Formats: sequence, structure tokens, C-alpha cells
Amino acid sequence: MSIMAIFKNCYEHFRGKFSKQYMPAQSPKMHSKKKVLVLDLDETLVHCEFKENNSFQHEALLKVNHKGQEYKIYLRTRPHLNQFLIEASRDYEIIIFTAGYEVYCEKVLAFIDNNRLISDYYARGSCQFINGVCFKDLSLLDRPMEDIIFIDNNPNAFDRCQENGLLIPSYLDSDDDDCLLRLIPFLKYLSKKKDLRPIAQHLHQFENNIGTTLFSENQKSLEIQQEAMDEDTLSEGNVVKKDNDITDLDIKHKKTQTHLEVVSKVSNKIRSATLFSG
Ligand SMILES: [Mg+2]
Repeated sequence: MSIMAIFKNCYEHFRGKFSKQYMPAQSPKMHSKKKVLVLDLDETLVHCEFKENNSFQHEALLKVNHKGQEYKIYLRTRPHLNQFLIEASRDYEIIIFTAGYEVYCEKVLAFIDNNRLISDYYARGSCQFINGVCFKDLSLLDRPMEDIIFIDNNPNAFDRCQENGLLIPSYLDSDDDDCLLRLIPFLKYLSKKKDLRPIAQHLHQFENNIGTTLFSENQKSLEIQQEAMDEDTLSEGNVVKKDNDITDLDIKHKKTQTHLEVVSKVSNKIRSATLFSG
């Protein structure tokens, strides 16, 4: 990482820490006896677009200023998000870790966290960028790693915390998406474990118990890829879809999709012209 990149990361980190517009309702330390649920934001809890799009039914239009420019955020929350946060907060301290910029993160959280259930957030300034790829370092949370489950739609995010990671299918805009609903009983099951690691092993046991997989096969059937991070732009990397993966089913329903393979940089069709997403 270049000196300039390190300086930019430090600047964004401290600027974010001291200029938070969205103040979490609860001090993280108050939750020290709870397990810790770390959640990615974009395509995990919400999907946002930054240009009006007739094929995208947005739920809210938010506005954010960044470096003197106003951006419009067309936001849609993942189905069952409110219920998910309420249920998960019974057993977990909830922390957001996104590669989106701080101002964007704050604006989105102010909209989705009506019940003030999210205890803290880490945004782009807290991410590490190596060769254009974003890494989310869970050691920043200062919690025992055995107490942490980290849910993200981007497998790159788990690079340094494989045992804590749970990959969730990406959410774009499907009304039928029930991934968050499906996660609730698993999180309840997992919360009773002394050590949450490795998540994959606990998930395997849970799926054996219930006799099915956590996420349905059609949710896993399509593949999307994500461009590598670009430090010189506002974007984490656009969610993109390989042309040969666009199916009739996808066109009709824009089904929730997932990453199935290692993410690589591609330059074909861009599904979402995001500026901040992570
Ligand atoms: Mg994401």
C-alpha cells in the first residue's frame, strides 16, 4: 500500500470517527456478554442505486453530501430486515462493517435502524485496501474472535477471518427474498455455542438438524461478481453480472444471487452504478 493510500485511509478513519451524524443508541461495551453479529450493508441488508432506474422500485430516496456534491440514494431494504434486527439483537450485539463511505453509511443506518438496535458501525475508513481489494479486519472490533459471526455477500471480506464468515446470497431487489428470515433460527442456534468458530461447521450441523440447507438452491443458482476496489473512486466496486449468467428467471424476477466462486475483476455489464456501496 502506498504512503498516500495509508494517509487517505487514516484520514477517512478519523474523519468518520469524529464526525458521526448517526449515533448508535447503545454503547458497544454494554453488550460485552452478548455474542457479536457483524453485518455488511450493501447487498446484504439493503440495495441502493444512485441513478433513477425504472426497473428498480426504490423504497426511499435519501440524499447525501460528499465532498461538496449531493448524491441521491435510491434505497430498498432487504425483505424482513426489521424482524431480523429485532430477533438478532436479543442474542447479539449488532455491528455494521461496510466499505461504503461514512456519510453514506450513516444516512442508510439512520433510515433502517428505527429501533436503534445497531450498536456501532465501521465504514470505508476502517477497511484496508490491498491491490484494490477491500479487507475488513475484525480485530478492530476489540471483541473475542470466538464470539463473532460476520455475514457478508462478498467472499473477499472473509479473507482474514474465514472461520467467522458466513456468505449470504446477494440481495438486489427480489420481493421473494427470505434470506434474513432463514437466518434467524440459525443465529438463535449459534448463539448458544461457546465458540462460534468455525461458522461453517456449526452451519453444517444446523442444516443436518433441520434437514435442509439454510439458503435455497435457486438463491445460490446465479453468480455475480464484484469488481475490485478502486482507491481512486468513491466506489467499493460495482456489483456486476456475467452476461452468460443472465437467465429468463433472472430477467423476470431478478432473483437473489450469490457469489459462488472467488471474486475476480470483470468489466462487462454493470448492474448497479453504485458510488459508495459495500
Ligand atoms: Mg456487500
